[in-house]
Amino acid sequence: MPRIAIDYFEAWRERVFVCECGWSGPGSRLTACAGVALFTLECPRCRDTLAGSAYPTIEEARVAADRGHPEAQRWLGRERDR
Ligand SMILES: [Zn+2]
Repeated sequence: MPRIAIDYFEAWRERVFVCECGWSGPGSRLTACAGVALFTLECPRCRDTLAGSAYPTIEEARVAADRGHPEAQRWLGRERDR
């Protein structure tokens, strides 16, 4: 299981993560893996899962999009295209 639960729409890309292998860096440098039920972020050096999140619900995406979150807005746009 991921060590840190993150919100999918949280600013995790700017957040600094530290791995037991000694790697540390911003979330944007982690390897993002889209699983079936979970979205996880892995250490680029040792592939340990550092953080993860459940996929947001449409409701959560709407709240984030209303706050002006560009990714949430894109995400909702994708949902609409289905
Ligand atoms: Zn590591």
